[in-house]
Amino acid sequence: MSLKTNQLSLRFLGGAGTVTGSKTLVNFNGQKILVDCGLFQGVKSLRQQNWTDLDDSEEITDVILTHAHLDHCGYLPRLVRQGFKGAIHCTPITARLAEIILLDSAKIQEEDAAEANRKHYSKHSPAQPLYNTKDVHKCLQLFYTHEFDEWMVPGPDLRFRFIVNGHIPGSGMVELHAGSKIIVFSGDLGRIQPLIVPKPRKLPHCDLLILESTYGDRLHSILSPFEQLEELINKAYQRKGQVLIPSFAVERSQEIIYLLLKLMSEKKIAPQKIYLDSPMAAAVTEVLRNFYSFLHDPELRHALTQQFEVVSDHRASRTIVSMAEPKIVIAGSGMITGGRILHHLEAHISDPKTMVILPGFQAPGTRGHSLANRASEVKFFGKYHAVKAEIIQLHGLSAHADREEMVEWIKKSDQLPGRIVLNHGEPHSSDCLRVKLEHEFNIPVRVASANMELVLDF
Ligand SMILES: [Zn+2]
Repeated sequence: MSLKTNQLSLRFLGGAGTVTGSKTLVNFNGQKILVDCGLFQGVKSLRQQNWTDLDDSEEITDVILTHAHLDHCGYLPRLVRQGFKGAIHCTPITARLAEIILLDSAKIQEEDAAEANRKHYSKHSPAQPLYNTKDVHKCLQLFYTHEFDEWMVPGPDLRFRFIVNGHIPGSGMVELHAGSKIIVFSGDLGRIQPLIVPKPRKLPHCDLLILESTYGDRLHSILSPFEQLEELINKAYQRKGQVLIPSFAVERSQEIIYLLLKLMSEKKIAPQKIYLDSPMAAAVTEVLRNFYSFLHDPELRHALTQQFEVVSDHRASRTIVSMAEPKIVIAGSGMITGGRILHHLEAHISDPKTMVILPGFQAPGTRGHSLANRASEVKFFGKYHAVKAEIIQLHGLSAHADREEMVEWIKKSDQLPGRIVLNHGEPHSSDCLRVKLEHEFNIPVRVASANMELVLDF
């Protein structure tokens, strides 16, 4: 009698040596499953990789999606264009958020291509979007949703489930059983005490843990965003100034609203009007309304929702821009590279009473980065605007665990993983985490490099 031999290998097609383009191809006895299907973002050499087709796109039977951020789902419509016809598995909230994010992404790509054609700056004639709205709709038809902890069987001797990982609403780590081997993909691992999503669950026993390493070399600020915001909002309120908060549509905007409404409900700041001025953030907030658990008290909910207005209409947005009375405005984009925040800044950035609060990471080269670095003027809409407003960077808000939180999470598992491979990190970050984990746990830890293949022996 011959023993059945299983073959299991992993290939890191993206999110290796970088934090974008997350894609890991699992090959189990010839069946190919992709875990995450993210878009490369940032520098040009990375973005260009989005234009190279995957070798295996027609042979992939399933995509397992850990969450809806673009660097994890943004390549899906392109994969569908390459002939992928399989199933895309995710949680119900991930599916709703991915729809909003992918449609927005397609719109940006279509607009960029149209702009390149108008201004003739593309090498290709005519310039094409990476994918369009039609591709996104095709892709959305392939989505299959699963609740957390529900097992799904995509093929013989294969099963997987999503487990809450505390990153963003709907996000989960993936526990995959292939034959006798268990692999856990952490996805983007959340904080030990997240603000609006449930805490990450315990790491299940596994032979191999694929762990993200975005903040493998860092510890988050110990400053409480709640206390910082209390002080800042009171200061701006006293001087009757505008508060402008550029923010990402998914999760960060909702966290800021959560903090502001909580401060109001605890009477730590005066009741004042908050506008969420972003069509995409408005759609996301609608999906996530039930995440404001502290609003479940009906009286409080009524009182607070009077203070909070979601603005999706373009004309209503312009009216709010021109209103002189003090208010708090949360608007995209998060790094001020575009979006409605520019109109608010145009009207108020040269007023010393205005306060601009930057709650997120600001990449070099963006207006947000210039402001954070005390630029005296900033250019948009074709002219320079003097920066007289007070610019503040808000610390402590992050949807990723830092180095210590990742160590703590592994420590809490009932049994340490057999070995760990680190992905989703800049090389320095991943390497710092590798050294730390080897020292703490004395198990083999390796950093994934682009296109690295890992064969698991049975
Ligand atoms: Zn993420």
